Amino acid sequence: MDRLQKVMARAGVASRRRSEELIRAGKVRLNGKVVTELGIRVDPSLDRIEVEGRPISTETRRYFLFHKPTGVITSMSDPRRRRVVADYFRQVPERVYPVGRLDYDTEGLLLLTNDGELANRLAHPRFEVEKVYRATVKGDPSREALKRLSEGVHLEDGWTAPARVRRITSRKEEKETVLELVIHEGKNRQVRRMCETVGHPVKKLVRTRLAFLTLDGLPKGKYRPLTDGEITQLK
Ligand code: URA
Repeated sequence: MDRLQKVMARAGVASRRRSEELIRAGKVRLNGKVVTELGIRVDPSLDRIEVEGRPISTETRRYFLFHKPTGVITSMSDPRRRRVVADYFRQVPERVYPVGRLDYDTEGLLLLTNDGELANRLAHPRFEVEKVYRATVKGDPSREALKRLSEGVHLEDGWTAPARVRRITSRKEEKETVLELVIHEGKNRQVRRMCETVGHPVKKLVRTRLAFLTLDGLPKGKYRPLTDGEITQLK
């Protein structure tokens, strides 16, 4: 048994605070009756909860780590019928969806869940969840270029926050360099645009870590459930 607002938030209806407002505003029905008290406890598997007339989903919470290959859209469907992340999760009965997104041509770690509360929290910049990227860029960035990347770069939608940036290897013959960038924002195509801005376009991009979760032992195109310990640590 959990508090109604907690069950609503977990179902992805809204944040816990906003769910409380919905309850107070008389927009929530429990087994057909409007409830306006906040303390009420419910059993998600037995009680029927409706918000503004629509039943909420109280299915089992599932959490997966996926190693997304390139050439896959971070989406549940695509009108142009290109390969989407959902294609890899056909065997999972619950409707899990990606937390954040990776570009079509980016590889790496993606978290999928049907826990709306956790998804909202992880995606919110306030929680500053670290994302680590390994970017293979054209050329050999100078110390000045790396300093700019780490201090913040001006993009058309504003400055990027400070990041941790280090050179992993310089491949002189291929005229490319592998960098590691640790950021906590999620602007659209952020790493690609940051590197481009300092004159070193990205040739290959892999997300290797999200918070404490890494790609270790997870082959490309495969997923695994999070362990109970990992779920607890994420929350
Ligand atoms: N930054 C990018 O440029 N692309 C991604 O897919 C993720 C971060």
